[in-house]
Formats: sequence, structure tokens, C-alpha cells
Amino acid sequence: MRSGILYLVSGPSGSGKSTLCRRLAAEGEAEFSVSCTTRTPRFGETHGKEYFFLTVAEFEAKIAAGEFLEHALVHGNHYGTLRSEVIGRLAAGTDVVMDIDVQGAAQVRACDDESIRLSLVDLFVMPPDEDELATRLRGRGTDSDEVIALRLRNAIDEMHHWPEYRYRLLSATPEEDYAKFKSLLFGERMRVSRLWVG
Ligand code: 5GP
Repeated sequence: MRSGILYLVSGPSGSGKSTLCRRLAAEGEAEFSVSCTTRTPRFGETHGKEYFFLTVAEFEAKIAAGEFLEHALVHGNHYGTLRSEVIGRLAAGTDVVMDIDVQGAAQVRACDDESIRLSLVDLFVMPPDEDELATRLRGRGTDSDEVIALRLRNAIDEMHHWPEYRYRLLSATPEEDYAKFKSLLFGERMRVSRLWVG
């Protein structure tokens, strides 16, 4: 038996990080931490699957009740991780993957729960370059020009944060990225400090 790993993944919109996280969960290698957000659902997104879609009032009530492990304002909307999505799973030895921004990552690293800090593996997914990032953001077809421009500006700011992470993945093709992504998790599972001896 071993303790669960909290696999924290950040990177700008268009870096491909969400695809990596979703695939890992779909293949049963880790459970996805479903975040709360106040942004409007995109076409095809459902409550409880991609996100828990909340009103600002509902989100603020959860902040007041201390339900969030971390929360932040990202691209003008609130996003947050519920403690209940993470803590019980880690204690049961289940690996959890979370897709959160650089502000949320800093809060998780600084949190007062030692078991969370010890379980943490943080990775920054870096797009190959700005042109490719812009192409990927436009190619999604889910966001307006205004939203794309905001996300691109924020992405460039966000990219400066990669040195705060233990690991960095320079994005290439989806298959190459996924192979590296999975091998990092597999390597972390072998760490002796994660094994329960008894
Ligand atoms: P999107 O709206 O494209 O799904 O996500 C926008 C950004 O919010 C992404 O950078 C994503 O990593 C971040 N995000 C998603 N969930 C959370 C969360 O629970 N907490 C924080 N801090 N950021 C989140």
C-alpha cells in the first residue's frame, strides 16, 4: 500500500494540460478533481463532470464555509478546488489529478495540511511557443475573439511562473506529451517515501 499522489498540473490555456489530465483519469490512472467555477458552461460541458457550475453567491458561500482547499479569480471568473474532492481520496491511497492555475498551485503548496504537501507532485505544461499557443486557442472554436485575446495575454503572464514548479513539460505532440506525463506519475509511485511499511 502507498499514500495517494496529488498530481497538480498547470499551464496556460492551450498548453494541452486539460487533455492530459482528462486522459489520465479516463484511463483509470487517477481520479479527476472536479473544480467549482462561476464561468458559463461551454457547449457539451455538464455540471459535475467538467466542473460544478455555481453562481457567484453559491461560490462565496463555499468560501465562507471553508470548503475550498484553494480558490482564485482566473480570466475574470472564480475557480476553486473543494477539499472533499481531494482529502478522502488521498487518504485511501487513490491518486488525484487536478488542473488548476498558478495562483491555486501556490496556495496548495503553502497549505497547512502536511499530508497534502507531502503528496504533491506539481507540473507546468509549457506550450512550444506563442504562435503555436495562439493557433491552438483559435482552433478550439469554443471561445469568442475577446475571450481568446484575454486568454492569450494571461497565458503569456502565466508562462513566467514555470520555475515555481518541480517539473516542466515542454509540449510537443499529444502522444509524446501523454507518454511523458504518465511516466512522471509512474516514477513518483515508486518513491520509497510514499510506501506504507507495516
Ligand atoms: P477553463 O475555463 O479553460 O476550463 O479554465 C481556465 C483556467 O482555470 C485554467 O488555467 C485552469 O487550470 C484553471 N482552473 C480550473 N479549475 C481550477 C481550480 O479549481 N482552481 C484554480 N485556481 N484554477 C482552476
